[in-house]
Amino acid sequence: MQVPFLSFEKTHQPHKQALMRAMERVLDSGWFIMGKELANFEQLYADFSNTKASVGVANGLDALHIALKVLGIGQGDEVIVPSNTYIASWLAVSQVGATPIPVEPNQKTYNIDPLLIEKAITSRTKAIMPVHLYGQSCEMGEIMRIAQKYNLYVVEDNAQAQGAICDGQKTGSFGHINATSFYPGKNLGALGDAGALTTNDLELAQKAKIYRNYGSEKKYHNQEKGINSRLDELQAAILAEKLPILSEWTTERNQLAQFYTDNLAGIEGLILPQLATNATSVYHLYVIRCQKRDELQQFLAQNGVGTLIHYPIPPHLQPAYVELGYQQGDFPLAEELARTSLSLPLFVGMSEAQIQHVCNIIHNFFAAQ
Ligand SMILES: *Cc1c(COP(=O)(O)O)cnc(C)c1O
Repeated sequence: MQVPFLSFEKTHQPHKQALMRAMERVLDSGWFIMGKELANFEQLYADFSNTKASVGVANGLDALHIALKVLGIGQGDEVIVPSNTYIASWLAVSQVGATPIPVEPNQKTYNIDPLLIEKAITSRTKAIMPVHLYGQSCEMGEIMRIAQKYNLYVVEDNAQAQGAICDGQKTGSFGHINATSFYPGKNLGALGDAGALTTNDLELAQKAKIYRNYGSEKKYHNQEKGINSRLDELQAAILAEKLPILSEWTTERNQLAQFYTDNLAGIEGLILPQLATNATSVYHLYVIRCQKRDELQQFLAQNGVGTLIHYPIPPHLQPAYVELGYQQGDFPLAEELARTSLSLPLFVGMSEAQIQHVCNIIHNFFAAQ
């Protein structure tokens, strides 16, 4: 049996007619950038996020970059980021000229540890960027409390957790201005690159709209040096078709995650995902950990099961960040996660036979140890 790491078949095929109609609507409209499809999706996504506004942009990295930019963060400033994250979170900080200051994760949730944030705050700190990694919300109550105490901005990286909840509130609605990605493989994915900002601050939303469009509010009148990072009509129309189905997909992801958790519980040496008491996960990824990670990955591959590692090299050890002078051992938890984590297949439409097969292979692997 073959189990791919990810398949889009059941996400898209049952909705093919609706998606084709949306694309046809855009084609026939003759209007492709900054039109009513974008305005419609921005309204829908703001409603979904329980925020006053949403601003569509070209991708998730740009969304993070624009969020920091409109908060006035730049050269000489520091932004607290997780040591355990996808490098995009750090790159956005670098793009505005600020310095990412890594903070280690909580051992159970793998999200930034609120208890360690205060020690990383200096006179140059301007913001905290919590990343809701693998789909689980960070402990936002604590993070917002620290931000308030030190007068810092919060920019949530919600690329992996659309619809996750902390203390009854949706991720993407806590921070001053927050970013998400609609990269095809995310829980809500476009058919190409796309991203968005969410905020309750209409002034920040307006600044983001100007910055994403060449720094221009009125055509050919440029009040600042902006960038071109727009969410096009085609992607907006597709996302508007897919958004109403997201909660159904999230339920399915949670059921698959529960199947793994029930089936794999009790294997010695295998660590399963754990949630903070006040947080939910939308299971963008189901990440397990074990010491013989590479052997397990190879064994699964030999038995037709695709897996990935999120992420094999933490940002502080990437050649891109040699300038910060970090070394092996500086962020031991992030390094341990990079060495031991493995993401199992989890996608909409994954069959019971497929997930049972993955579990069986994992049981066989550990039985032979
Ligand atoms: C995917 C992702 C991004 C970047 O999104 P793109 O749309 O690929 O630019 C940022 N942060 C995290 C945590 C991500 O998973």
